[in-house]
Amino acid sequence: MLDVDLDTVFSELEEEHAREREFVETLAPLIPSFVFVLRTDGGAVFAPSGQEGEVPLPGDEVIARARAGIALYDDGTQVAVVGVAALSGVVACRPASGGTILAEAPALELFVSCVERAARELEFAEIAIENEQLSRQIGAMKAKHQELIEHNHRQYLLIQKKEKEYARTLEAKIAERTAELRKANEELQEASRLKSEFLANMSHELRTPMNAIIGFSDLLLDTGLTGEQKEFATTIKQSGDGLLTLINDILDFSKIEAGKLDIAHEPFDLREIVKNVAAMFRKPAKEKNVNLSYQVDGAVPETLMGDGSRLKQILVNLAGNAMKFTKDGSVAILVQSMGGGQGRAAVRFLVEDTGIGIPPEQQNAIFEKFTQADGSITRKYGGTGLGLAITCQLVDMMGGRVFLSSVPGEGSVFGFCLRFDVGRRKTSAAAETAAAGGRRDESPGLHILLVEDNAVNQRLATLMIKKEGCTVDVAADGLKALEKLKSTAYDLILMDLQMPNMDGMEATRRIRAIEAGEELAVYEGLRSSKRPVPIVGLSAHARKEDADKAKAAGMDDFLTKPIVRPKLVALLRKMAAG
Ligand code: ADP
Repeated sequence: MLDVDLDTVFSELEEEHAREREFVETLAPLIPSFVFVLRTDGGAVFAPSGQEGEVPLPGDEVIARARAGIALYDDGTQVAVVGVAALSGVVACRPASGGTILAEAPALELFVSCVERAARELEFAEIAIENEQLSRQIGAMKAKHQELIEHNHRQYLLIQKKEKEYARTLEAKIAERTAELRKANEELQEASRLKSEFLANMSHELRTPMNAIIGFSDLLLDTGLTGEQKEFATTIKQSGDGLLTLINDILDFSKIEAGKLDIAHEPFDLREIVKNVAAMFRKPAKEKNVNLSYQVDGAVPETLMGDGSRLKQILVNLAGNAMKFTKDGSVAILVQSMGGGQGRAAVRFLVEDTGIGIPPEQQNAIFEKFTQADGSITRKYGGTGLGLAITCQLVDMMGGRVFLSSVPGEGSVFGFCLRFDVGRRKTSAAAETAAAGGRRDESPGLHILLVEDNAVNQRLATLMIKKEGCTVDVAADGLKALEKLKSTAYDLILMDLQMPNMDGMEATRRIRAIEAGEELAVYEGLRSSKRPVPIVGLSAHARKEDADKAKAAGMDDFLTKPIVRPKLVALLRKMAAG
C-alpha cells in the first residue's frame, strides 16, 4: 500500500519535472568535462544521473548575481553559476577534474553556450511537441471539417433526391389533376353541346306547330267570321304569339348562357325600329287608356351600325314591361343623342312609365333571371322573369349597362347608353319596293316551288303564297323537287332544311351543281328559268350558324319559321323586283 503511494508520488514528481530532467540529461553529454546541478527558482535540484551531490548548491545571493551573467562562488574559483531563463533557474558547475573554474575559462564559455543550447533544444523539443499537437489538432479539425463537408454533401444529395421525388410527385399530381379537369371540361362542353342541341331541336319541334297555330289563325281572321268566331281566333293568335315569345326568350337565354348569341354589325334605321316598337303597343295602349308616345332626337344619325333586331328586342321588352305594369297614365320611349363625331354616335335610350314602380329593395333582384319583384306579380301579371335578364345581357353585349330609377306608385324609368358606328343610308324594304316600281298591293305574280315535308306547313305556306297572288307547286322532299325541276320553271324555290330522303342543303347543292354542269340539258325547268334560280331556305332553327350553312350550300336567303306574313310578302316583292 505504502509502495504504491510512493510510486505515485514519484511518478507525479517525475511527470512534474520532466523538462528539468530532460534538460540536465541533454546538457550532460554536451560537456563531459563539467559536473553540474540545476536549481529551479522553486528550490528543486536536478543533477544528471550519477552526478547527484557532486556540486555544492549556490546560495540566493549568488543565484541573484548569476541572473545577470556568470557568478562564481565557493572561494570564487571552484564553482560557476549560470542563469537559465527558459527554466527559471540556475546551473551550478565545476570542472569534473576538480581543477578551478578560472583555469578552465574557455571551457566555461563553452559550458555557457552548451547550457543555452540545451535550453534551446528543450524549447525546440517543446515547440516540436506543440507543433505536433497543433498539427494533430489541425489534422483532427481537418478530419472534422471533411466529415462536416461530407455530411453536408450527403444531406445536400438527400435533399436533392427528396426535392426531385417531390417534384416528380407534384408533376404527377398536376398531370393527374389537369387530366381530371380536362375530362370534366370536356364533359361540360359535351353537356353544353347536348343542351344547345336539345334546345335547337326543341325549338324546332315547338315552332313547327306554332307556325301552324299562328299562321292558320291569321288566315282564319281574314275569312268572313262572326264576331264571336273572330274573338276566338284572335285569342288563339294572341296566345300563339305569346307562346312564341316565350319560346324565343328561353332559346335566347340559353344561347346567351352558352355564349352562342352573336351581335350583328349591320346598318339599321333606328327611327324605323322605334316607330315599329311603338306601333306594336298602340292597340293595347288604346285599350288600357295609356298614352303611348315616342321621340327620337333629331341629332341621332339616320343609319347606325349594329344589331337592329336585337335592339328592337330590348326596346320591346322594356316597353312591354312598361305597358304591363301601367294601368293608366303614360309610357314614353325616348332616344337622345349624347354626342358623337369621327363616325361614332352615342345614344341614350329611355323607357319611362307612370306605372306601379318597383320598391328600392327589389330593384337589383329583378335583373336576375327568373326573378320578379314579388310572388304576386306572376299571379297578377304573368311573365317568367326572363325578359329583363335577357335585356341586360343584350345591352351588355352591345357595350352598355341598363340603369333603373323607380318610385313605387309613381313609375319607373329604364335606360341605357350605347355607342354606334354611323352607317351609310340603307334603303328600306318599302323603298326597295318603290324603287322597283311596284305598289304595295300589287301582286308579285311569281310561280313558286315550295319544298316542305310537313303537310300542315305545306298547306299554310300554300295559302299564304296564294293570298299574295302567286302560284305554287309543292314537293315533299329534295328528290321530288329535283323531279319537278326537270319539267317546270320557277321564279323562286322555298326550301325547307330538314326533310326525309334528301334535305334542303343537299337539294340546293344538287341544283347549283346541275345549273353549272351538263346535266342542265335534262332539267328543262332550270334551263328555262332565271339562273341561278333564287332559293330561300326555311327553318325553325333561328341560329346564325344555320343561316351561314344555308348560304354556304348555295341559298340566296333564309327565312325563319314560323313564316310571318309581313316577312313573306317582303320577300316575294323583293324577288319580283329583283
Ligand atoms: P317578366 O316581366 O317576364 O316577369 P322581367 O324580367 O321582364 O320578367 O321583369 C322582372 C320583374 O321586374 C317583373 O316581374 C316586375 O316585377 C318588375 N318590372 C319590370 N319592369 C317593370 C316596370 N316597368 N314597372 C314595374 N315593375 C317592373
